[in-house]
Amino acid sequence: MKYVLAILLMAVMTLAATRVWAAPAADATPSVSATATAASAASFNVDAATNAYMAELSPQARAKSDAYFEGGYWLILWDLLVALGVAWLLLGTRLSARMRDFAERVTRFRWLQTAIYAVQYILLTTLLTLPWTIYEDFVREHQYGLSNQNFWQWLGEQGTSLIIALILGTAVLVIIYAVIRKATRTWWVWGAGVAIVFAMFFATIAPVYISPLFNTYKSLPDSPLKAQILSMARANGIPATDVYWFDASRQSKRISANVSGMFGTTRISLNDNLLNRSTPAEIKGVLGHEMGHYVMNHVYKGIVFIGIIIVLGFAFMRWGFAWAERRWGTRWGIRGVDDVAGLPLLMALFTLFMFFMTPVNNTITRTMEAEADAFGLNAARQPDGFARAAVQLSEYRKMQPGPVEEYVFYDHPSGWNRIHRAMIWKAEHLDDADIKVEESIAPAAAR
Ligand SMILES: [Zn+2]
Repeated sequence: MKYVLAILLMAVMTLAATRVWAAPAADATPSVSATATAASAASFNVDAATNAYMAELSPQARAKSDAYFEGGYWLILWDLLVALGVAWLLLGTRLSARMRDFAERVTRFRWLQTAIYAVQYILLTTLLTLPWTIYEDFVREHQYGLSNQNFWQWLGEQGTSLIIALILGTAVLVIIYAVIRKATRTWWVWGAGVAIVFAMFFATIAPVYISPLFNTYKSLPDSPLKAQILSMARANGIPATDVYWFDASRQSKRISANVSGMFGTTRISLNDNLLNRSTPAEIKGVLGHEMGHYVMNHVYKGIVFIGIIIVLGFAFMRWGFAWAERRWGTRWGIRGVDDVAGLPLLMALFTLFMFFMTPVNNTITRTMEAEADAFGLNAARQPDGFARAAVQLSEYRKMQPGPVEEYVFYDHPSGWNRIHRAMIWKAEHLDDADIKVEESIAPAAAR
């Protein structure tokens, strides 16, 4: 189920939903003469400033976050192997065929048979992959000191996720199998359509109905910072009237924020880690970035890109299913693509496809993240705040990868890249009065 939900989660990852009513990027033309800018820029060295930020991280801290992040590359491969292993187990032992036979004995309604199979499948695959999930999401996070949860708290949240997966996963599988049975030749096109509509539905409801199941959202008490955040929102055409904070420290130490909402419920949310661990300049830098996602409609653009990938994925499933069925269909007890007993095979094929699409998915996301960075620098005008936030994010992201490594594995620009771009922006705005004021938070070599 992890894998159907993965499609849905990708849509959310690209960022929470809504409509935008107004204008694009802020006007960032500095009101200084070309000669003045040139003179100041000459005394400000972008590379030296970037290095000054990088130097704030100890070699030990760098080694630790590099190890954590590079370990994540291998997890992509192990995740694939675990998924393929589970599919092989269900098919090879004919367990999947027996689960279908059971569903057929219980009811003669095909949609209900699909639902009964889906519930068994989701429960069983969750159980089979649980040891791996415990290592990946709990043990490893603790090894690197990134989690604030004890085992039972963590397990409770896994239970909540399982219930969501049972409800939404069963619903989407019943619909997709109904489509497969109606359109036996063109099911992959219609099936992809259902998956895309479902991804959009999930992206819309997730911030409103699913996020609050894991965290408590509260209105941020009035403060000068809150007023500045709302002012920045108004200036960029975001119809938000309140700023919320949520208790992400229940789960982890990571800093984060987002702009989400639908139909007049647009909300700006920042997590308590960001509030507690960051200066106002950092918070404004981060929120400028999040507002960029919103103003540039990244959630809709993301759905278009992901939609193309889902269609390709379904085409691959159609081809791969026919191929595998010819070879092993009888042995596995699968009667055809409209037989729900073939679900583990469809899932294995989709997981395999997504594995090879990793660099494509990452590049789509990373490109939008870089756009949001650029927007955020112009909107918040906090190059040092943003650079500081990038330093904080280094706890779980390798700061300076090679170019191919960044292309393949990074769903955000690397920390070095983000600091470097912030310093380039700063070099071009050195004579602006507000940028001079903010210099006080920069390391000496970045002033
Ligand atoms: Zn972002």
